Amino acid sequence: MRARPLLLVVEDEIRVSRYLRSSLQMLGYDVLVAEDGVKALELVQGNMPDLMLLDLRLPRMNGFEVLENVRRQFDMPIIVLTANAAEDDKVKALMMGADDYLTKPFGTRELQARIVAVMRRYRPAEPTATRETMYQNGGLRIDYATRLVTVDGNAIHLTPTEYRLLLNLAENTNRVLTHDYLLSHVWGVEYSEDVHILRATIWRLRQKIEKDPTNPIYILNEPGIGYRLAQHEETTA
Ligand code: CA
Repeated sequence: MRARPLLLVVEDEIRVSRYLRSSLQMLGYDVLVAEDGVKALELVQGNMPDLMLLDLRLPRMNGFEVLENVRRQFDMPIIVLTANAAEDDKVKALMMGADDYLTKPFGTRELQARIVAVMRRYRPAEPTATRETMYQNGGLRIDYATRLVTVDGNAIHLTPTEYRLLLNLAENTNRVLTHDYLLSHVWGVEYSEDVHILRATIWRLRQKIEKDPTNPIYILNEPGIGYRLAQHEETTA
């Protein structure tokens, strides 16, 4: 555990990386800067930063490749930096496992709020109110103590945000949870309007737990309202 969290800024625009470095230092973080994607991966491997701020348009290796590489190996929080007009970039990055995004230009207050919120989500989830230690629904099983999720006996690796989302759905099995409810409970009240973050994370969760993610049997849509985790018969397996 570091005294000051170490943040990695990946940004090729000097003006932006300077601004980020000085703002973040002022907010009490230690800062590393990479100007391209290759350097970013080196710094991730060598320093294991506590969070990465990742520009998507980078020389040598673009931000999407960096994201894909890091996600394959680490659970670190990642906030992508996107240009105002790049709505598609934002959605793509979220689907690839980014935790959040900041649209340029952004102020120090917004920067700080997003960092705090994302780091909070990476802390272990609060113990559940239920006394059960095991959740079982059809082939889906959650061991609350070890946070191990299995589907039909196969262990599934979830990011902390995906795990939190699944827990919220599981604790309310068969109940429809609104977009607003899920965003507030999993991400925080300041995210209650960010439906595309929710949609992208549901998409990722389905890729991991559903046999056919386009025809889900666990996480069902309630169009215009939210999502529901459907109850299935217990299996003896
Ligand atoms: Ca750039």
